[in-house]
Amino acid sequence: MRLIDHFIVGGPGGAPARKSPIFDPNNGGVQAEVALGTAETLERAVQAALKAQPAWAATNPQRRARVMFRFKELVEANMDSLAHMLSSEHGKVIADSRGDIQRGLEVVEFACGIPHVLKGEYTHGAGPGIDVYSTRQPIGIGAGITPFNFPGMIPLWMSAIAIATGNAFIIKPSERDPSVPVRLAELFIEAGLPEGICQVVHGDKEMVDAILDHPAIGAISFVGSSDIAHYVYNRGVAAGKRVQAMGGAKNHGVVMPDADLDQVVNDLCGAAFGSAGERCMALPVVVPVGHDTAERLRAKLIPAIHALKVGISTDPEAHYGPVVTQAHKEKVEGWIDKCIEEGGELVVDGRGFTLQGHENGFFVGPTLIDHVTPDMDSYHNEIFGPVLQIVRAENFEQALELPSKHQYGNGVAIFTRNGHAAREFAARVNVGMVGINVPIPVPVAYHTFGGWKRSAFGDTNQHGMEGVKFWTKVKTVTQRWPDGSPDGGNAFVIPTMG
Ligand code: NAD
Repeated sequence: MRLIDHFIVGGPGGAPARKSPIFDPNNGGVQAEVALGTAETLERAVQAALKAQPAWAATNPQRRARVMFRFKELVEANMDSLAHMLSSEHGKVIADSRGDIQRGLEVVEFACGIPHVLKGEYTHGAGPGIDVYSTRQPIGIGAGITPFNFPGMIPLWMSAIAIATGNAFIIKPSERDPSVPVRLAELFIEAGLPEGICQVVHGDKEMVDAILDHPAIGAISFVGSSDIAHYVYNRGVAAGKRVQAMGGAKNHGVVMPDADLDQVVNDLCGAAFGSAGERCMALPVVVPVGHDTAERLRAKLIPAIHALKVGISTDPEAHYGPVVTQAHKEKVEGWIDKCIEEGGELVVDGRGFTLQGHENGFFVGPTLIDHVTPDMDSYHNEIFGPVLQIVRAENFEQALELPSKHQYGNGVAIFTRNGHAAREFAARVNVGMVGINVPIPVPVAYHTFGGWKRSAFGDTNQHGMEGVKFWTKVKTVTQRWPDGSPDGGNAFVIPTMG
């Protein structure tokens, strides 16, 4: 059986005591195993990082940026093989796998401009003969703990900025699809990054806990489900670290009566069912405003959903592929059962879906459930599968209240031709990322990504300037160069510039 091992200086260090299977979601078989590391594995990576980081931090930012430029070229040159690798473990279709890597690469492009963003601030003559300047210095060693659903993009969100700002970075990818992060780390080395600056350790809770407790790791960026995010945040902060921890989501798409419904249905199909609904910015709840809008929308959605093609991840005609594991398929189908039990009306049933020739694959058919209400557990919780729930609202205020009061606040969208309604909605909704006629409002790399409420713990977002802030600490220097004549100031009084 092929083994996916740690990528650390000095090699993985012998046969792993524990391993975890990597499935092929298209046919249900086990295609490889991943090593599950221990605190000892982490210690080896940390020691190598400690050794390498000071010289990397002292490398001028233009040279660090040049590594990013070369890395970007290498990822582009390897795009095809990376996309196939990603797709084979995750199950998302090839075009979507390329998108996964491309969205991460855009953060690398941002990191190519790191000399500019690290310039700092300077005040000449802040007081008599006194200058003040502030610079951003790397934290030292940073770690990233990432989810299965974006094995290219999310490791790149973190690593590109952590590394470009002068940190050593250790990534602990999802144990369900760990190959792409390893390949990216290899490409970093090929691009000229010194050994020890980007390493990969694999594992589960044991490795995560070792990272959370390690005194030499100064910052941890986590993305995953909310309960784990909350746990990682609490334990990491208690250990004195800087932590950002992004969690789950249940994004709503509000459809106003004046919306272009053909466009909405098109957008919804992509946003609810693309990547089998396994996106934190998927749109699994649609909120039509008014009875007439709901009926018209439902009538158009049903045939569009029936026309969706579920296929293996390498099928260029498939709209989406299998979910990541059998356990996840069962969980998604369990939520559909639960929603029906709770009183939802099953309109299109995706349970029990099989694909001819791939009967053991982890496929779930597209599912539509109407008359879902806010008191249902299946509404309150993230399903993370190809399931679209219709929650009907009587008016704009009710529609605004639904995402605003939901426990998650990652993304939200409004579909309308009315600029006033859109503007009010964007200003008042209690959610971190808003789309106006944009179903998946993932901000571009030079802006910043982050939700509110239980979708994110901590106070800085991913990438853009927020990412730079997270991976650096500010040092402010106040300097004077006296000419030798005593100025007679009273050293016992707090200095002022007055
Ligand atoms: P997950 O929480 O199961 O795993 C995330 C990471 O945590 C993995 O590296 C995993 O090894 C580790 N982990 C799992 N259990 C742990 C435990 N008990 N203790 C410590 N560490 C543990 O998440 P997932 O299923 O891989 O990913 C899907 C989730 O991620 C969804 O909830 C999705 O909404 C969320 N997500 C959020 C964002 C965002 O930016 N808000 C982006 C992508 C995914």
